[in-house]
Parts: sequence; structure tokens; C-alpha cells
Amino acid sequence: MAKQTSTTPMMQQYQAVKDQYPDAFLFYRIGDFYELFNDDAIKGSQILELTLTARSKNAENPIPMCGVPHHAAQSYIDILVDRGYKVAICEQMEDPKKAVGMVKREVIQLVTPGTKMDVKIGEAKSNNYLAAVVPEEGRYGMAYADLSTGEFKVTVLSNRFTLQNELAALGTREIVVPNELSAEDEKLLGQGERLLSKADAVVSAEASYVSQDLTDQLAVQVVSMLMQYLLTTQKRSLAHIQKAVYYEPAAYLEMDQDARTNLDIIKNSRTGRKGDTLLAVLDKTKTAMGGRLLKQWLDRPLLDLNAILARQNQVQDLLDHYFERSELQERLTKVYDLERLAGRVAFGTVNGRDLIQLQTSLDQVPTVQAVLQKLDDGSFTALLKAIDPVADVAGLIRRAIEPEPPISVTDGGVIMRGYDAKLDEYRDAMANSKQWIADLEASERQATGIHNLRIRYNKVFGYYIEVTNSQLDKVPEDRYERKQTLTNAERFTTPELKAKESTILEAEERATGLEYDLFQTIRGQVKDQIARLQKLAAQIAALDVLQSFAVVAENDHYVRPAMHAGSHDLAIHGGRHPVVEQVLGEAKYIPNDVVMDKDTDILLITGPNMSGKSTYMRQLALTVIMAQAGSFVPADDASMPIFDQIYTRIGAADDLANGQSTFMVEMLEANAALSHATASSLILFDEIGRGTATYDGMALAQAIIEYLHDHVHAKTLFSTHYHELTALADDLPKLANVHVGAVEENGTLVFLHKMMPGPADKSYGIHVAKLAGLPSSLLNRADTILTKLEDNSQEPAPAAAAPAEDAQLSLFAPEPPKPKDSPVLKKLAKFDLMAATPMEAMNLLYDLQKQL
Ligand code: ADP
Repeated sequence: MAKQTSTTPMMQQYQAVKDQYPDAFLFYRIGDFYELFNDDAIKGSQILELTLTARSKNAENPIPMCGVPHHAAQSYIDILVDRGYKVAICEQMEDPKKAVGMVKREVIQLVTPGTKMDVKIGEAKSNNYLAAVVPEEGRYGMAYADLSTGEFKVTVLSNRFTLQNELAALGTREIVVPNELSAEDEKLLGQGERLLSKADAVVSAEASYVSQDLTDQLAVQVVSMLMQYLLTTQKRSLAHIQKAVYYEPAAYLEMDQDARTNLDIIKNSRTGRKGDTLLAVLDKTKTAMGGRLLKQWLDRPLLDLNAILARQNQVQDLLDHYFERSELQERLTKVYDLERLAGRVAFGTVNGRDLIQLQTSLDQVPTVQAVLQKLDDGSFTALLKAIDPVADVAGLIRRAIEPEPPISVTDGGVIMRGYDAKLDEYRDAMANSKQWIADLEASERQATGIHNLRIRYNKVFGYYIEVTNSQLDKVPEDRYERKQTLTNAERFTTPELKAKESTILEAEERATGLEYDLFQTIRGQVKDQIARLQKLAAQIAALDVLQSFAVVAENDHYVRPAMHAGSHDLAIHGGRHPVVEQVLGEAKYIPNDVVMDKDTDILLITGPNMSGKSTYMRQLALTVIMAQAGSFVPADDASMPIFDQIYTRIGAADDLANGQSTFMVEMLEANAALSHATASSLILFDEIGRGTATYDGMALAQAIIEYLHDHVHAKTLFSTHYHELTALADDLPKLANVHVGAVEENGTLVFLHKMMPGPADKSYGIHVAKLAGLPSSLLNRADTILTKLEDNSQEPAPAAAAPAEDAQLSLFAPEPPKPKDSPVLKKLAKFDLMAATPMEAMNLLYDLQKQL
């Protein structure tokens, strides 16, 4: 709608502010309300279910308006921000009573999805990351910060692929980007309904948030852009934001976006149930900080053997000392969210109750130290040395803040008696005056003979003497001045009461004013120690995750995996899927071995649908992630190498939302693995190729297996229903067949969910048919057809899938085909799938198909 002509001075002021925040809802404070006007009001009233009214209703152009009471504003702001909008909070900057002319107003904060400080119940164990990205010649500077905890990290990524993986891992809802952004980058970054906030990408004074060792100019630039954005939106000092720490994604076990979703680590996109995730199984943390750190550890499992061993040793120590562990847990339950408390101290939103929570938390630390001392067999020595209980802050709060303070910090009652002599003096004066009033009440009753005479106080009229109508004739008219008439009573005052009233009110005003000053000073003193509090918070969070690992290891019978860095040998016996076993119950889950020595890189898994192939694959990946995060693993015993990356193509999670066909998604994921994986990587391919016609699907599957075998050497689990592929074992020395075992039970074929060596029985379908009682003549006929089909498959594949020149794609030619020899595959290999549009990919496929 058209912009309203701003007639009144107030609407002119409004419009001037609104012009600075065109993309935000402007909450404009008028008295006890925040008002929204014009388009904000129309849209806001719909979203927030508010009544739409109008300002200057009778004017020619009434202005649409809606409002929320200031004390309830937060929940309305949350709703808008959760929906992905920004909200600018515009306050009255002076007391309207004292203002000359227009009340001065200013935006005091811009709340955005990535800068939300208030944490809703149920979100305490999640971070809310704001990211910033600066593209530069194919590289991307990326930084992220959690405003509520002060965490701040930065990295430089060499391609879009890793950028996408990082952003996916962070689950960020808002990205700060430079004003000049290519359409392509805008599309990439804006995926998943992420809000892109434009900013100037210049290196500014905020570069001081960059730690000394940060030398990459792109990293410095993105850090200062993010910090600049935080400062301009929050409009206050942000002492809790740490100096940005540089990290390399490659320093952790890398998982692409698909692996994270396919493995249900943090979220289960298939069942949607919160409990069906690795995180839920492993989360026995007692603190919100621990919960968040566990998530981070699962998002970034380690690569460094010694760091993994250090965590394992600590878990072992906690496992071995049941009583100390229980005591530790008991203490941890009393620790509040130190990180977010520290954040609110810096933010200036902390109140008396928060400080008491801080003190209660700090009070647990000495016991935590004592417990650690008791259970330490060497693994906690370094941590014990490093812990600083920040006892000075605890002591300050104990001395200064009432144990049960009110929520408000401006109305008094927060500061302890004995903390400040001046404050005690005011309070004494107030107490004395109140006694004086009580005495006055008694003496007036006596003097007037009005037995129900009362002296009371309210905010509007101050102190008054109240006399009910029936007693009015006894009122000494010469001394009492009438103040207010009610239906059943009259209120009076006297000169001496008036004088006392002003003394009391003055003392009260002074006292609350002084209290607020004192509170701010204390808050400032705590603020000076934020870095120490944050360090302590990190230590406690880590302890919490470690005890959680110990609890789960004990309850769910996990073992400590023997980790080694030298070879790629893998041997897991009696392994289980941590989540499925919870759903089914440990007794019902059939454990499985995964053994891949130096002569086995690829396990080709055959077996019918629903026999447990993909569960087996996910089980291995989750075991790897757990082990490298420092957790014990669900198995009888496990000896594992350190993997550098995990790639998955599992299940038929059609990515239709992005307009890509299943097969295209499958090929994109396959390509990511083929082009990035190393000999230290883990690849899980479930039924690759089933998304297209049988022959080219099978051809691609075989070519991919061969490529992995000859060029990549990563440990690979490859499941397939193309039984023909099992013959590859004859030609590929590092490929072994395994299958899901089955038994006949009461006339049906039961799949045991048990992996056995060798290929699956190819005629299980006919077997099932036989059990179902189909006529034997029919079964014999089926047997004949099967044999014939098998014979056929020894010959070159049918024309549809036959290659243009010689028998390259013949599935079981004596010489296994090498991808590099085929022009079609050469073309395919050279094609940069990640950089291509779906249309380009379609065109390529069309060309390739013509050559077949
Ligand atoms: P596939 O990939 O072969 O189609 P899934 O791995 O999806 O089969 O497994 C099918 C179902 O079988 C799972 O939902 C699970 O309930 C069950 N299952 C799989 N593996 C096991 C196991 N090792 N023990 C018990 N049940 C299992």
C-alpha cells in the first residue's frame, strides 16, 4: 500500500526511524505499548493475531495500527523472529513527563533470527548460530557466532561443497553477506529459507575481534563483517563475544550434508522422532552447556589419535568410579547455563535471580574439583590444574545479592543488608518512618475515637488517612485535609503526614536508585570476569559430556574401541546400531561383525529388501563417529582406524523439494564421494543405480565399484540388489561379498539380519514362492528362466546398455573394464557435477546416452 503522508510530528518521527529499518517490523514504543503502523500493522496483526485499528480514524487517510503491551512484547517478538523476520525495538529515550516537545525515541536493538538471545524452553541444548560469508574468487571466508554463548569461529573454505557442508552442520538461519553478492552465491547461501542480511564487507575496528594468529585477509574480513553486524544490530558492548578462533573443517572428521541427514546424528528426518537420533541415545548430560557441547562433538569428531585417547581415558576413569561419578552428576544438575548467563551479564540483561544462579553454579565447583581428584587416575590431572573456580565472583554475589531477589532490578530489594552502609542508612530511615506511621495510626485512632481509622499508601495519592462514611462525623475538620472521596469512605491527609511522606518517598527513591547503581557496579565487576567464567563453562561442559559417555557406556554395554592411526584395518565384532537397538530393545537386535583388513576395501552386500543392509551400513558409520568423538561403542570388541571423511548414499530420500530427481541426487552424492574421498575415508553406498533403468543402473554401479577399488581405496560398504555384481569378487582382489543370512522357519523364509560371508542365494525369490505353495511346474519353469538369464548375462549386455565400441560395459568380461578407457566414462569423470546446473547435467546424460 502507499506510504501514508506523515502528518503529525510523531508520525514524522516514526517514518524517519522506519526508513532506517525498511526490512524489519518496527516496534514503536508509545507509553505502555509498542505500536506497529502501516504495512507492519497489517502484516503484523495477521501473524500475531492482533486487532487492526487505525490512528487518526476520522482523517482522510487513517493509519493502520496495532499494538502489544510492553510487558508482553517479548513473546510477540519471538513469534516474528522465529518466522524469520527482523524486529527493530524503538524505545522512548526520555521520561515523557519531562520531555520538551516530542519524546526522543531510538532503536535500541534489532532482533534477527541469528541474534536471538532468549532461549525458549526445550532449546537450551541448541546453539543459535549467526553465520557470515564473504566469497572471493572461488574461496569463501566463513565465520559464525552464537550471541547467547559468545562462541566465535572463522575459517576459509576452498569450495562451495565444503561451504555447504559447514552451513548445514551449523544449522544456521541467518547469514550476513556482503552487499555485492553474485546471484549464484545468493541462491546457494539462501537455501533452506535462510535469511541473508546484507552488510558492508570492509575491514573495520571490529577486526580487533580477530585473534593475533589470524593472518588470512579473507578471514579477517569476514570476522569484522560479522562483528560489525552484531554491534550495529545489538547496539551495546558485547564483552562476552570471544576472539574469533580459526579452525579447519579438515581437522575434524568431515561429513557431507547427506551423511549428516542420512545417519540421523542430530535429527531424524525419516521418523521425525526426536529420540531416534544418535544424539538422543548419547545424551545423558546434566547441563545445557553439556548438551550443546555433545552436539558439537558429534558434529565434529576428532582426527587426532591422542586427543581421542585422552577422552577415552577420562570416560574410562568415570566408568570405573561409580560413586564419584554419581556425586559429580549431582553437582552438575545444580549448575545453570554458565555460558548463557555470562552472555546475559555482558548483554546487560542479567537480573538478581540470574546472579544467584551464577553463584549457585560456581558453588558446585569446589566439590567437582574434589570429586575429580578422587577419581583421577591421570586422565584428569591437566584439567584439574586448569580449573579456576572463579570463587571471587561467587563471594561477591553471596555478599551483595539477596538469596531470593525480585525479578526487577529497578524496584529495590536486590542488594543484601550489610553490603553498603549508605543503602542500609536509607533503609533504616525508611523503616523508622514506617514505624512512625504505624505509631501515628495508633495515636490518631486514640485522638479521634475512630477505631477503624487506617493509614495507607498507594502510588497515585501517596499516604492517606482513610475513614469510613459511618465515622465521618468524628473527623477533626480543622486538622484533616480532604484528599479523595470514595463511595464508602473518605481519604484525608495532615501536614505532618505530608511532610513524612516526602521524607519516606525521598529515602525510597534514593534507596532504589542507589540499589540499581550498586547492582550495575556488581554486574560490571562480574562482566570483567567473563573470560574466566567462559573458560570454566567450557570445562564443565566437557566433563558433563564425558560423564554422559560413561553413563551410556555402562547402561548400554558399550566397549572402548582400540583406535589406531597407522593402518586402515577395521575389526568390529558383535557390533550394534545404537539407535535401532534402542527402538527394538537390546535383546532383539542381532549383532553383526564388520571386518575389513588391509586386503579388503569393499564389502559388497547382497540380500533382499528389509533384511538389514542399510542398518548395517549406518551402524558402521555411527560407530566410527562415536569412536572419534571419544565415546565408547556398541560392540563386543572393536579395533578401528581413524577415518577422515564419511560419504553416504543411503535410502531413497528423494530430494524432490530441490527439483532434482532421485537419480540425479544419487549421482551427485556419488560424485561427491568419488572426487573427495581418500584411502582413509568411509563410503556407504546403498543400492546405487536403482534409480534408473536396470542395465545402465547396473553398469554405473559396477563402474563406480571399480573406480573405488582402483583409484580411491576408501573403506566402502556397497549394498546392491544386482546379484550379478557379486561376480566382481573374482576380479577385484580387495572386494569381498557378504550377504544377509536367512533360514526357513515354519514354512517361511526368515531373514536373520545377520551378515554372512559370500554372496546371497540368488534364487531366494523362487524359494519364497515355493514356501508359499506355488505349483511345482511353475517353480520349475522359473528355475529354467533364471538359469537362462544367468547364461545370458555371461554375454555382452543387451543392446540398450551396450557400449558403442567393443564390449567395454559387458558386465562380466574376463578383463574388468577400466573406467578410464571409456570415452563415455571419461567424459563423465571430467564433468564437474557440483558446479553444473541440473539442466547441464541432463544435457550431458543425453549426450552420453547417445554414445551408448
Ligand atoms: P534393507 O536396507 O536391507 O532394506 P533395513 O536395514 O532398512 O533393510 O532393515 C529393515 C528393518 O530390519 C529395520 O527397520 C530393522 O527394524 C530391522 N533390522 C535391521 N537390522 C537388524 C538387526 N541387526 N537386528 C534386528 N533387526 C534389524
